[in-house]
Amino acid sequence: MAEHRTGQVGHFINGQRVNGEGGRKGVVFNPTTGEVQGEVALASASEMSAAIEFADRAFADWSQINPQRRARVMFRFKELVEKDIDNLARMISSEHGKTLPDARGDVQRGLEVVEFACGIPHLQKGEYTEAAGPGIDVYSMRQPLGVVAGITPFNFPAMIPMWMFSVAIACGNAFINKPSEKDPSCPMRLAELMMEAGAPAGILNCVNGDKEAVDTLIQDPRVKAISFVGSSDIAHYIYSEGARHHTRVQAFGGAKNHMIILPDADMESVVNQLIGSAYGSAGERCMATPVAVPVGDKTADKLINMLRPKVESLRIGPSTADDADLGPLVTAAHRDRVKRWIDLAIEEGQELLIDGREFSLQGYENGFFMGGTLLDRAKPEHKSYQEEIFGPVLQIARAADFDEAVALPSKHQYGNGVAIFTRNGAAAREFAQRVNVGMVGVNVPIPVPVAYHTFGGWKRSGFGDVNQHGPEGVRFWTKIKTITQRWPEDVQGSEFVIPTMG
Ligand code: NAD
Repeated sequence: MAEHRTGQVGHFINGQRVNGEGGRKGVVFNPTTGEVQGEVALASASEMSAAIEFADRAFADWSQINPQRRARVMFRFKELVEKDIDNLARMISSEHGKTLPDARGDVQRGLEVVEFACGIPHLQKGEYTEAAGPGIDVYSMRQPLGVVAGITPFNFPAMIPMWMFSVAIACGNAFINKPSEKDPSCPMRLAELMMEAGAPAGILNCVNGDKEAVDTLIQDPRVKAISFVGSSDIAHYIYSEGARHHTRVQAFGGAKNHMIILPDADMESVVNQLIGSAYGSAGERCMATPVAVPVGDKTADKLINMLRPKVESLRIGPSTADDADLGPLVTAAHRDRVKRWIDLAIEEGQELLIDGREFSLQGYENGFFMGGTLLDRAKPEHKSYQEEIFGPVLQIARAADFDEAVALPSKHQYGNGVAIFTRNGAAAREFAQRVNVGMVGVNVPIPVPVAYHTFGGWKRSGFGDVNQHGPEGVRFWTKIKTITQRWPEDVQGSEFVIPTMG
């Protein structure tokens, strides 16, 4: 099949691809070659407003369709995405730089949430209490909100939009996706496939843009809820602006996930899993493992001895190579930022064990590549430890004992994921209970919960109190209405005190 080339990307609004009218554009790179491979329209406020209007009109009918029919659209969408998975993976890989198998995984993890959303007739059922009082029954129902939106990051252009829109649309909402301007082709294609699956025009729109488009979504009273995933400062901005405009917001931010390695852990397994979770997708995953915490110096030395040859022999290649472990970073600007974090870590006193800053891939010298970097002796007071680096960089933060190992991720500003590797069940259990982080892996390096549980970090990794997908997703994309009813044969007299059921 032909390689993907971005070309000119507009928007998908009210069931069709349209060119951007505003004239402002962003560039889309091919990170493997470093070339500009296309341009993406950046929507003006009036283009976004027009999309909201179409979505609002489409909502009126869609919200009245019975949930089984909405589920059938999801079933068909799942089949269409499965058929198109290689094409979608090529789009992702060429614009993001992740390897093709990893890009397929991105689509696959999104599809799992679509599968979950196929169960919407059951998931959206309300509750009923018979005879809550004399002749009184009470029931509650979950109704869709109206026009809702997703603002998504560059690093999972398939999975994260699907987390959001599959549940939102299945619940009866009309959705506007504002994807990352760095890799817009896959979200555009997903909107097209949703139409093909039978969703009416206007139910899934893809409007590309930047701050102007995002601010329009937040400020428009027709937009009832926004789900955001991206960096923490923007997450916080959207969360607080949403509150000011009375818009429901869940906003997930950055991460700095730790892997705790107790002395009794199976070190072979630790190293094999750590190498993938630290360096896979060039470290550009919010559930990557950028910090390893070996407990005790003996464990640290053993870890480093076994890890070193594996980091040195990482296969770095074009995103299309079958045998690459990782590809390039998303842009040159981001790669340069990652390098500056390494410079700072060295200035702060960390020991540079393997330096990936000078790596260049033969034949792809203009690509945004970096080698794997390994740093030892990161400390809580180091800025390069406190902040997210989001690159192929693993920092080792040695802990003297179990308590210190629990304290490191617990006191960190981010609280997305954490993992512990041990053979000791009691220690793992205590760790899972005590650690101040939202998602915990026990001998699992990337504890992304399955679609029917929920995804969400704590502290500066998540603003708002309702998680992504699973039952929490249904809660986020619906509002609850509770009806207290009595059908008396004859109502006599008036009551002036608050009714009680006792
Ligand atoms: P980003 O914050 O730069 O962009 C995310 C979205 O916000 C994009 O759609 C972008 O167009 C928009 N945006 C950017 N600047 C904006 C502004 N000033 N005002 C309004 N909107 C703006 O994030 P990114 O670089 O695309 O993605 C990487 C980040 O996302 C990392 O921090 C990573 O940890 C995080 N992430 C978090 C999770 C999670 O679930 N917690 C998952 C994936 C990625």
